[in-house]
Amino acid sequence: MYLENSEQSKASGEGELSAEVILAEQCVIPKATEATVFSGPSKDSADLGIKVLMAYTGQIFNGEMDCPLLCEENGNLNTGEVQAKPLLPQMESSDAGKICVVIDLDETLVHSSFKPMNNPDFIIPVEIEGKLHQVYVLKRPHVDEFLKRMGELFECILFTASLSKYADPVSDMLDKCGAFKNRLFREACVFHKGNYVKDLSRLGRDLNRVIIIDNSPASYIFHPENAVPVESWFDDMSDTELLDLIPFFEKLSKEGGIYDILKEQRISS
Ligand SMILES: [Mg+2]
Repeated sequence: MYLENSEQSKASGEGELSAEVILAEQCVIPKATEATVFSGPSKDSADLGIKVLMAYTGQIFNGEMDCPLLCEENGNLNTGEVQAKPLLPQMESSDAGKICVVIDLDETLVHSSFKPMNNPDFIIPVEIEGKLHQVYVLKRPHVDEFLKRMGELFECILFTASLSKYADPVSDMLDKCGAFKNRLFREACVFHKGNYVKDLSRLGRDLNRVIIIDNSPASYIFHPENAVPVESWFDDMSDTELLDLIPFFEKLSKEGGIYDILKEQRISS
């Protein structure tokens, strides 16, 4: 979807598209200064959402408009209309009765960068405007074990604000056990107040049986009570967050609804 914008930008004589834009997860209305953009908690190009999109605001935002060109890609918040077609197909019969768990990709399961890294788990070639770029992907520790167990317990859905041309091949490499029953990409997000939001009400599942695991609170701002937050991960190979979550999800998988147990978890943490 972003490339559509880039075509419009080129037509209006604006700058070149950066390869990093394709990974950008969170988009911010361009009011901050560059100093604001390039400081903060991110490491190298990890916090691509803020860094990159702010750096390329001329391409993303249409002149003096407050609203980016991508606004409400797949939603209709401005009109209040509800899109009839759910994002997900009917649940497979093998998953009947299971809770639906929506899992984020970047900085939740992997960390990716256009900067070469020493020991990447995968290198994904991504073509942008006719030029091939290499994306270096590092797996979060224990992600294999986590996905395998989650796939056994739940109907797992990959839901990322990144573009499919990057996230789909990463998922192919990452999800060797076939945990993800479906994959949702940026076009499935709703662009709301500068962020790509994952609107769980559009999945086509009972919200009392939907959980989102995400490092970015902005992603689940419509449904914070359905969230299991995780720390953003970049390269700490001693990280055990995914491993530590498995017993919690094993317990959760036996519950009828998710709200009470998630509320308990929020209070105790
Ligand atoms: Mg993320």
